[in-house]
Amino acid sequence: MVCLAILAFSLPHGFAGAGPSAKTGSKPAPVPAAAGPAGVRPNELGRLLILEYHLIGAPEAEWRRTPANFRKDLQLLYDSGYYPAPLADVVSGRLKVPAGKTPFVLTFDDSSQGQFRYLQEGERLVIDPQSAVGIMEQFKKEHPDFPLTATFYVLPAIPPKLRLFGQEEHIGRKLQYLAEHGYEIGSHTYWHQNLSKTDDLGVQKQMALANQAIQSYVPGYPVQSLSLPFGVHARNQVLEHDGEYQGIRYHYTSIVLVGSGPAPSPYAAGFNPYRLERIQAGDTAWGPGAYVERFRKNPALRFISDGDPATVTVPRAEAAKVGKLPPGMKLRRSIESGTGGRRELGL
Ligand SMILES: [Zn+2]
Repeated sequence: MVCLAILAFSLPHGFAGAGPSAKTGSKPAPVPAAAGPAGVRPNELGRLLILEYHLIGAPEAEWRRTPANFRKDLQLLYDSGYYPAPLADVVSGRLKVPAGKTPFVLTFDDSSQGQFRYLQEGERLVIDPQSAVGIMEQFKKEHPDFPLTATFYVLPAIPPKLRLFGQEEHIGRKLQYLAEHGYEIGSHTYWHQNLSKTDDLGVQKQMALANQAIQSYVPGYPVQSLSLPFGVHARNQVLEHDGEYQGIRYHYTSIVLVGSGPAPSPYAAGFNPYRLERIQAGDTAWGPGAYVERFRKNPALRFISDGDPATVTVPRAEAAKVGKLPPGMKLRRSIESGTGGRRELGL
């Protein structure tokens, strides 16, 4: 079976225009701080990675990651100072990330079975350790300082293999498990509709019925995020996140796109939670490994947490690029002292 999502995706753009280097490339890379974890200076205006997975299985392909490669991605992120964040925390700016770490977000589109599969073992039902949820749960056990979470953009009205992770008999169990174990269930519309090819009523129907279907398994679940099918916008973009159909209202706080670069900091002026770019998983020049390497070489591009959820620390020279901060959050500008190297001053 061919995944619907694969049919019409535009190809990622690679690095061209994806990173912030065109805008900030003239800034010198920061000198490691005398103080601070691993000698890294906080920069909460840097970019972060929202990773995008589709099929999990074999063999590796453009829209499919093997279980071993998914695990490899997690290990690379862990080893490279990245830290899992719920998408909702990125959008709200209420990030809880240890000092020196870079937040990243995991997302999965199309609710295929390889993302979340149950296996019958005798009398017991177990999560397939080769499915994405199984891999993440095992990785968390082995790395308790790495609280993995992910947003799953699901399809409620689609042929059975993609309908809410397949396995009709376990749909409710799976959605409830996700909701109860710190994962997020997002909408990928009702049946993967190309929103540019439907009218306003059709767009609202797609959103409302998707929410209703999810909530039929997890009563009251607040669906807050949308992944645009094919990365294609509706003609009336407001209806992508706010609308109503047959008395069912919906409101999303974030929308993710198909590609194709790091997302800006939520504290950056102009941050738009309804246009979040993602990094397509794969061993490609635009994949997670390539960006980890790029950020390693250009640490000034990378969001680095100050470890304090109540403050936003940015290089002084970048302070004008800060947008409106969440209520109660305080801005700190990191400065250089004249002779004693860098230090941090709260302002
Ligand atoms: Zn899709």
